[in-house]
Amino acid sequence: MIKFLDLQKINAQYADEIKNATSRVIDSGWYLLGNEVNQFEVNLANYLQVKHSIAVANGLDALRLILKAYIEMGFMSEGDEIIVPANTYIASILAITDNHLEPVLVDPDIETYNLDCSLIEKHITSRTKAIVVVHLYGQVCWSEQLESLAQKYKLKIIEDNAQAIGAYYTDKEGVSRKTGTLGDAAGFSFYPGKNLGALGDAGAVTTNDDELANTVRALGNYGSKQKYQHDFQGLNSRMDEIQAAVLDVKLNYLDKENQRRRVIAQKYCENIHNKKITLPHLDSKKALTDCLNHVWHLFVIRCKDRDRLQKYLTEKEVETLIHYPIPPHKQGAYRYMNHLSFSITEMIHNEVLSIPISTVITDEEVDIIVDLINKF
Ligand SMILES: *Cc1c(COP(=O)(O)O)cnc(C)c1O
Repeated sequence: MIKFLDLQKINAQYADEIKNATSRVIDSGWYLLGNEVNQFEVNLANYLQVKHSIAVANGLDALRLILKAYIEMGFMSEGDEIIVPANTYIASILAITDNHLEPVLVDPDIETYNLDCSLIEKHITSRTKAIVVVHLYGQVCWSEQLESLAQKYKLKIIEDNAQAIGAYYTDKEGVSRKTGTLGDAAGFSFYPGKNLGALGDAGAVTTNDDELANTVRALGNYGSKQKYQHDFQGLNSRMDEIQAAVLDVKLNYLDKENQRRRVIAQKYCENIHNKKITLPHLDSKKALTDCLNHVWHLFVIRCKDRDRLQKYLTEKEVETLIHYPIPPHKQGAYRYMNHLSFSITEMIHNEVLSIPISTVITDEEVDIIVDLINKF
């Protein structure tokens, strides 16, 4: 059986260091708002090259807190519109509606599965205040066109960086910056299955904006900047010391792990040859192992006969998943949007299949998967 994601095996690689780190926290008697979180915030900010990093409880909260902070800062208010890709995990949209803002869904580009920037402008109205970009499956969603639209209409760009920690965008001057530092603010998730995964829920907000950072930090801690003094109606959304200690260990191995994902992706792209299968689109002639704009959180193929392909692989003991089977606008949670139609999004949701790309699958397992897919 080739598992889609073997978390036990992933964390076992670092078991001694992780156990040391968690024991240190247990023995310290200090479990929230302490040195471990401070240290992780500093290390994450240094890793990304961003001014502020604020550790929070999970990725959804990271995005909720950014929008809530912009509301508190007077930059947006109830009913304002936020542009967001229709093809995303529902969290990107929940963060918007939770703040009583209006999500304006935009279809993705069929090649990258990321927001189609050429479709954004026609959705901008006088109420549009921000664009949420999602670096889906680990691939950077960024362009000069996006930057200039944001500038022209004075929109904030918020990155949902739950899937792409460690990826770079390189501009035409050749300057590279990491995702999470490209826009005005970014939300990260350290859910156990993400490229940098905790042993439970955890997330972070990053930004170069001092006021936003201070507001997010207060909002995540009961709206308080000073103990027992509450400036906002905040939330309780703090990362605990144990998760911070674990993440600090694993952050050291993130680049190595992302590079292993690129090697696997390269093997898949070179060796899968089956007319029924659409591989991820490659826009560069470079080897994938040299393309730093993708960290391959997921390796997603498309097939018109997706359900049969999945069943076949399951029978051959290869575990696969679908990211995602039902688009947000077709969910019960958003009944008022169920009548809307986003043709590219719907096609993607009907055809995609994620095959294993975790850092602990072996080259032999990759070969087995390639072979099975070629024989389908
Ligand atoms: C995982 C994920 C989130 C939410 O993160 P949690 O830590 O599970 O709350 C948000 N957006 C995307 C795109 C994700 O993949």
